[in-house]
Amino acid sequence: MILRTARARLTLWYTVALSIIILFFSGGIYFFVSISLQEQADRQLRERTDTIEKILKLGPDEMREEIRELMEFDSTAIFLVMDGNTQLAATNSWKEGGLDRFFAGNKTTPLHLWTSPNGRPYRLQTKLVSVPTHSYRITVAIDEEQAHQLMNLVVTLILIGIPAAITVAFAGGYFIAGHVLAPVNLMAAKAGEITAEGLADRLPVKNPDDEFGRLATVFNQTFARLEDSFERMRRFTSDASHELRTPLTVIRSVGEVGLQEDNDVHACREVIASMLEETDRLTRLVDSLLTLSRADAGLTLFERKWTDLGALAADVIDCLQVLAEEKGQVLTLDAKEPILANIDPSTFRQALINLLDNAVKYTPPNGRIGVAVRRSVEGMAVLEITDEGPGISRENQSRIFERFYRIDKGRSRDSGGAGLGLAITRWAVEVNGGRIEVESEEGRGSTFRIVLPV
Ligand code: ADP
Repeated sequence: MILRTARARLTLWYTVALSIIILFFSGGIYFFVSISLQEQADRQLRERTDTIEKILKLGPDEMREEIRELMEFDSTAIFLVMDGNTQLAATNSWKEGGLDRFFAGNKTTPLHLWTSPNGRPYRLQTKLVSVPTHSYRITVAIDEEQAHQLMNLVVTLILIGIPAAITVAFAGGYFIAGHVLAPVNLMAAKAGEITAEGLADRLPVKNPDDEFGRLATVFNQTFARLEDSFERMRRFTSDASHELRTPLTVIRSVGEVGLQEDNDVHACREVIASMLEETDRLTRLVDSLLTLSRADAGLTLFERKWTDLGALAADVIDCLQVLAEEKGQVLTLDAKEPILANIDPSTFRQALINLLDNAVKYTPPNGRIGVAVRRSVEGMAVLEITDEGPGISRENQSRIFERFYRIDKGRSRDSGGAGLGLAITRWAVEVNGGRIEVESEEGRGSTFRIVLPV
């Protein structure tokens, strides 16, 4: 339970890791100091034994003199030399330390650790030396009291140091983890305040280059996208409601007028015709809205197949020919060679219908509309629809593909559009892997160009 927070877990891991390091390090120090003390003691023992051995090999008088000197000048020396069963020499410290008792046990090994009855630790080395007439036994000792004290000091320092170091590590780790994780808490608090209504808020980014900064930046980008799509949805809903209300209002007022007056059959028919016209407009609008919301939700079914663009254009021209003829317009198709593109014919056809419908709508009577299918220099398929309409200003060219955008609201509504046709067209082209562009000059007609990979 205590480890619920990342801060606690980080602190724990950090403390455990550091404790293991400290333990190993302390163990290493203890081991190293103890080994070097032992080696030093052994070396001393060896050297002293060798010195005495050399003395024993001298002539008897010289030997006694040298031993006496050794005992006199080196007060730290502790040794005993036996000549057979007689004691040849024993230092004062040997006698005072009660080291004679050492031989009470049957000590045969050359090196011993022994504690005297008064509790002093000794390290001893015994060596047998034979010369032609004598057989000596040298026993040299070293008082290890100081070495033991040093080791005890090391152990005490380690025992005090380890818990202190672990405590400092824990506290420091807890503080550092808290400091490092502080931006996360800030982000969580801020994210909790961001709602669908207040999507303009952003998470605080302290340092955009560290991990948390990058996370906050990514979240902020997501919030920005969410805000954008919420905003678009809100605008879409409000524009859609607005567009739906106009024909409904017209139907209602036409109906009221029809009811009020004492109409004859002819006037009634006119009222009904007008209502049907508005109903048609409503149906078209609802169809467009449905297409767009399905597109947004990704619910449109696609069945891509290799389609000849020229044949598809000819088919669409056939459908709209009647409308063009009504206005005395000439519709031409220029498709010299078959150009195949891998598209969903149904959505792509919708795009062409919208473009050609606009061309017919905006081109004055007796004007000319041309459809051309060709291959570009880069090897792309290009489909162009050129009309002799009023043209589109540069600033409007970038906006006509937006939903509900109409250049001249009154004029466009009269011809039945809600500003959704080109939005649907752009979606239909892009979903088929292509792009759409417009080239136009006011008063000089427009060319809508679809470019598709083949
Ligand atoms: P609508 O269905 O109302 O025509 P569109 O999305 O198809 O809506 O077109 C948006 C606007 O672009 C229209 O209001 C119209 O003013 C302008 N437009 C579209 N096509 C043409 C064209 N071929 N010539 C001139 N203006 C055009």
